[in-house]
Amino acid sequence: MVTRPVSAFSGFSGRRARFEHDRPDAATTRELLARLLRCARDEGLATATDLRQRLLLSGIDIDMPRLADARRFLDSGIALDAEAIKAGLTPDIGRFLLQILDGDLAIENFPVFENRIANIYAHAQAATGGEVASYIPELAKQDPDSFGLAVCSIDGQRMALGDAETPFCLQSVMKPLNYALALGLNGERFVHEHVGREPSGQGFNELTLNRDNRPHNPMINSGAIMCSAMIRPGRPVAERFDMLMRFWSSAIGSQACSFDEAVYNSERGTAERNFALAKLMESHDVFPEGSIVDRALDLYFRSCAISLDCRALSVAAATLANGGVCPLTGHRIAEPATVRNTLSLMLTCGMYDFSGEFAFVVGLPAKSGVSGGLMLVVPGVCGIGLWSPPLDRLGNPVRGLEFSRRLVEAFPFHIFAGTTDGPQ
Ligand code: GLN
Repeated sequence: MVTRPVSAFSGFSGRRARFEHDRPDAATTRELLARLLRCARDEGLATATDLRQRLLLSGIDIDMPRLADARRFLDSGIALDAEAIKAGLTPDIGRFLLQILDGDLAIENFPVFENRIANIYAHAQAATGGEVASYIPELAKQDPDSFGLAVCSIDGQRMALGDAETPFCLQSVMKPLNYALALGLNGERFVHEHVGREPSGQGFNELTLNRDNRPHNPMINSGAIMCSAMIRPGRPVAERFDMLMRFWSSAIGSQACSFDEAVYNSERGTAERNFALAKLMESHDVFPEGSIVDRALDLYFRSCAISLDCRALSVAAATLANGGVCPLTGHRIAEPATVRNTLSLMLTCGMYDFSGEFAFVVGLPAKSGVSGGLMLVVPGVCGIGLWSPPLDRLGNPVRGLEFSRRLVEAFPFHIFAGTTDGPQ
């Protein structure tokens, strides 16, 4: 029911980002439109309204920028004939529609998928326990009952449940893109001269560094502060932050994201730990030459206060699932190698001191944050954004963990599912 692309072990065809290149069998425009018409007829789709309904049934977000040029056509109710299709659709959109009608989507049977996800959501909602983080005073105001969930597939199929449209501040969920941006700007070699790639085996804000006095990895506070130091260090903080916000915006489909100033001020005022971590790194002289550490910290605090809702977060996760190409716009926001590195570190270090356990049981790249946010990536299939503030003692959202465990029981999403015999 859920299509897994060819696994990384048996070939590479499924690894190419969707919608980046023409499909290999790209036909001439005329042939393409004729095939589209035939497919529509076979399915009994007589008008643009029928086609629109068909897209909705497949979970396709018909408001996505990728379909912008087809909106008028889809809303027109016009009869589907060769003339109308030719006049109303571009070849790229025609190809995408054909893919949908062929059933060649990341999630084949979307209504069934939606149902199962709703079921898992309900089970996760019943999970109790955990505490809302309070060490950043503004976070203590979060409602423990808030629970949002959204999914976006690599083809732009979307669903949302609960408080999926309530914005929350990302906190550590920003770390993967913070790292990806630092990589994109400086290259892997430079970045990893300054930050390691091993799990730390300790809390996210522990006062500790690795054997070389570098932060263990970019998914904990010290490593994220180090990555912030590598984002356009010579420029004013406002400009650097603007760049990071624009990066997030393109990852979520060219939508705006906001900044929660109250959280930023609240965190700045109570950030002794992070100041201490920065001092520790400074004392070992491991920041890149010319770094102004206070500015790197300021950029770090600001990034933790970027706020999004689950729907938007699921798109960022889907962009990573799609090798760096945003499924809603088709824009490449990061190189495949950057995405591979980011996902590797999310898999091994994204869930604090529970990362090994999470990789074992759930087997998906993920990143949690103290606001209760969780970004889950199912490579080649979809991205998931979740938000539920109560955290367990290691700092991971209780409902997020319950959801993730049940997700991989219901679907073969564990990245090593399918590499052993028999049903998973
Ligand atoms: N802003 C938080 C901090 O620095 C981020 C930590 C987190 O989400 N784990 O403490």
